Amino acid sequence: MPTLSNPEDVIVQIEAATVCGTDLHITQGVHPEVPLGTILGHEGIGTIIETGANVKKFRIGDRVLIPPTTSCGTCENCAKGYPAHCSGSGENGWLLGHTIDGVQAEYARIPYADNSLYAIPEGLSNEDAILAADVLPSAFEIGVVNGRVSDGDTVVIIGDGPIGLSAVITARLKNPASVILVGIEDFRLETAIMLGADHVVDSARPGWVEAVRKLCPKGGADVVIEAVGKKETLEGAFALVNTFGRVANIGVHTSPVSLPIESMWIKNLTLTTGMLSCRCVPTLLDLQSKGEIRASSLITHRFKLFDTVRAYETFSSASTSKATKVFIGR
Ligand SMILES: [Zn+2]
Ligand SMILES: [Zn+2]
Repeated sequence: MPTLSNPEDVIVQIEAATVCGTDLHITQGVHPEVPLGTILGHEGIGTIIETGANVKKFRIGDRVLIPPTTSCGTCENCAKGYPAHCSGSGENGWLLGHTIDGVQAEYARIPYADNSLYAIPEGLSNEDAILAADVLPSAFEIGVVNGRVSDGDTVVIIGDGPIGLSAVITARLKNPASVILVGIEDFRLETAIMLGADHVVDSARPGWVEAVRKLCPKGGADVVIEAVGKKETLEGAFALVNTFGRVANIGVHTSPVSLPIESMWIKNLTLTTGMLSCRCVPTLLDLQSKGEIRASSLITHRFKLFDTVRAYETFSSASTSKATKVFIGR
């Protein structure tokens, strides 16, 4: 049972959580900085059961969304508007399920509650709201906003995981001319069409880059959103982007990729990366509660909190389980 450590903390009774690709990375040893025995999970929903003395925005009984980033609001990076890089309690704002215990548990301590938690609009279900913790805001902030998706753009999204599919949904908010999703799982390609992709391309087939190019009116994309994190997919992104284009990388790369700087400068290309600040979460929650964002089809499997290990197994074997996003509830 967690207890308050600082006056800015709250204790939350967890109502819902989910498993992120980054959680899988941790179990695979990609993040050796995570102390052994840490409770994982950085996307949650809960009810506040205890508040520290300095907590002003929230009260006991409030239903809140817990995002991956928690931030103090006062350090140099927070003051500059970069809460993802909060230095209040470590190197950055990703503490939950990383350097402190996370939310895949009955209860969790959330630091810097006032500056980090978001009230969930009444009537929005846990299954919808949980998607606004990480997948929707990552796709929006690091993909759509960083990639400057604009009116009339051709947008190619590489990756059919929950983030790539969320990029289809959130790119649509910027009124692009066309959205093309590249992926490998048939069931997810179908979901992409349902969520608003104009075309889908199976990248398991040879020649997928050419196949995408043929679907682009100008022979290439204005924006490519990379949502996989592999050498081949980032190289594909650079091969597909037009002059003045933007490659917005969201995928978490776990091995080095060579940057084609020799072709980037002459095409005036921009490459962006980044870590989620979560500042768009209230907007996304609002759009969800108005029905302007419909993302619930991303959730394919449901588990009870005590069955979280099975949720990991299901999520990590997506090809056979046909899982996109797993929901963990009480
Ligand atoms: Zn995550
Ligand atoms: Zn800070």
